Amino acid sequence: MAEATVRGFDAVVVGAGFGGLYALWRLRGLGMSVRVYEGGSGVGGTWFWNRYPGARCDVESLAYSYSFSPELEQEWVWTERYASQPEILRYANHVADRFDLRRDIQLNTRIESAIFDEQSGRWNVRADDGTGVSAQYCIMATGCLSSRNTPDFPGLETFRGAHHHTGSWPAEGVDLEGKRVGIIGTGSSAIQAIPIIAEQAEHLHVFQRTPNYSIPARNGPLDPGFQEKVKADYEAFRQPFLGGMFGLDFSPHDRLAMDATPGERREMYERRWAEGGLALIGSFADLLSSQEANDTAAEFIRGKIREIVDDPEVAEKLLPDSPVACKRPCADTGYFETYNRPDVTLVDISDTPIDEITPAGVRVGDREYELDTIVFATGFDAMTGSLMRIDIRGRAGLTLAEKWSGGPRTYLGLCTVGFPNLFTITGPGSPSVLANMIPAIEQHVDWIADCFMHMRERGLSVIEATREAEDAWVDHVNERADRTLYPSCNSWYVGANIPGKPRVFMPYLGFPAYVERCEEVVAREYEGFELSA
Ligand code: FAD
Ligand code: NAP
Repeated sequence: MAEATVRGFDAVVVGAGFGGLYALWRLRGLGMSVRVYEGGSGVGGTWFWNRYPGARCDVESLAYSYSFSPELEQEWVWTERYASQPEILRYANHVADRFDLRRDIQLNTRIESAIFDEQSGRWNVRADDGTGVSAQYCIMATGCLSSRNTPDFPGLETFRGAHHHTGSWPAEGVDLEGKRVGIIGTGSSAIQAIPIIAEQAEHLHVFQRTPNYSIPARNGPLDPGFQEKVKADYEAFRQPFLGGMFGLDFSPHDRLAMDATPGERREMYERRWAEGGLALIGSFADLLSSQEANDTAAEFIRGKIREIVDDPEVAEKLLPDSPVACKRPCADTGYFETYNRPDVTLVDISDTPIDEITPAGVRVGDREYELDTIVFATGFDAMTGSLMRIDIRGRAGLTLAEKWSGGPRTYLGLCTVGFPNLFTITGPGSPSVLANMIPAIEQHVDWIADCFMHMRERGLSVIEATREAEDAWVDHVNERADRTLYPSCNSWYVGANIPGKPRVFMPYLGFPAYVERCEEVVAREYEGFELSA
């Protein structure tokens, strides 16, 4: 890059989802020059890309929202208990307009490389349009679930019909009326999409590799009176969320499942099933750490599936046998009920996988399913995927891909040794996907902004984690996970959904403890970091 022609910024931010938008606002507030790059043609990240039928949040809308602006909190009106994708996307756009963010965001631009120049101590960032800029700080707000996974089924290119991934659903929608549709996957996206696609399609085939637990969301209009009450003291409303293990108010029960009688357990699970949403997994304190306790919740949900699904053979195929919530739990509206429709067929591919996509549809063993449209609800290369797609090089030309070849290594999920002044918002090693993500994003951005201020006030310009701090943090993340059932499942938390990905538990378990740790690090003059001029 010719130095004379390169424009310089204090910070480059990659991604214009909730992470990138807030980073821009916060750093601009410090008087920094910032450029945000976004590969999509609009802001909103997840909520820009995932427009599949039924897409919505499963954290309650009043909690899945920014807290940084009391004015924004007051003026935005949520209409449902769980906001739909269009509403969340409108909210992201409102934020971009209200805080005049767009002038520093370059859309339709994918960052291909970020290379640290040791001489200048700056990051050279290059985009797919051939342009490049330099920046003192590089902030990756690239998202944990933003790198789509489309399995490499042979023959996809020969398919005569249309195919779409839930994570890049066309903005104009897809007409599925009267179509023979096949959906591959039964994760959170599929579980939301299936009931609605079933209503539109002539026939829906669901290709299920692993059955999944799901709890009714019990979505509905948000009571305006309740919303007003929350807004009268929004901070008090948020407090229980910030103190919860997942950044969520599950009103966690201190009691252990195995200390309760079967009747008490049943009563608790019934109550939470009726209330709806993910709170069922907070019913007892040991559900995620004791197999015996977890089995009680698992059996409760399996009982519900048996009750809901009319055909016992279909019900049997829908029964999960892994621990509840070991994979990301799902919330639904009429998911299991959909299998009672005559125009929906469950295809169990657990023993016989999809062999190929043919010009006419999908072939499983000796059976070909003729389809007009295939929906890939096959998830994401989570947490590291979007970072790995960028050629990131730190000191001495070390690439992030080399450094993380055995799994991601970070200090606090914020920084990684060898890559000075590079930050990841909700990076691996932070609560990220095991938290309500907007508070998690705000906490990361605030920490980074405070760090920049600290450095500026002291005339410092370079920050880098120490090897010892990083090693200790990685051990701590694993140690915490190993005390739970999480590592035992083939989830995307451990990278199991992507062939060849190292099996490492990537997020950090325990939102409030993590926040305290970050604050402690600052109070101890950025313990575990080296700061220099
Ligand atoms: P994203 O929203 O993923 O934004 C990252 C942006 O970076 C994307 O727009 C992407 O295009 C861009 N980008 C990536 N790489 C590049 C590059 N090289 N160059 C330029 N741009 C790039 N979380 C919850 O807490 N509760 C929920 O209920 C919930 N529901 C979800 C539902 C779905 C369908 C999905 C997929 C995720 C859900 N999440 C949920 C997680 C969600 O991702 C976060 O809540 C949040 O939106 C993440 O914001 P972000 O800015 O960190 O990342
Ligand atoms: P996912 O949970 O990873 O589910 C992907 C599905 O595709 C799984 O059922 C998986 O089966 C299947 N699959 C993958 N590769 C396959 C193959 N080669 N053959 C057959 N089946 C295959 O992805 P997702 O549903 O998109 O959800 C990802 C995450 O996004 C969620 O966990 C959640 O964090 C977030 N999300 C949240 C919501 C919400 O309600 N708020 C909605 C959507 C997404 P296996 O299980 O066997 O791997």
